[in-house]
Amino acid sequence: MPGIVPHRHCLVCGKAIEPDKNFCSDDCKVAWEKERKRQRNFSLMMLALLMILLFFIIFTPR
Ligand SMILES: [Zn+2]
Repeated sequence: MPGIVPHRHCLVCGKAIEPDKNFCSDDCKVAWEKERKRQRNFSLMMLALLMILLFFIIFTPR
């Protein structure tokens, strides 16, 4: 189809970029890494909370 070149969109801001790239700029790349780390920390925290909860459920005397 004419007028449509293969391209991707920046994972952060959605700008059209080259197909072999994930981000339009280093700024967006940094922002993405930050967000990913934050999400990982959040998941780890949730997992820890779940373990604690499970621990209490199993070891609480009835
Ligand atoms: Zn971007």
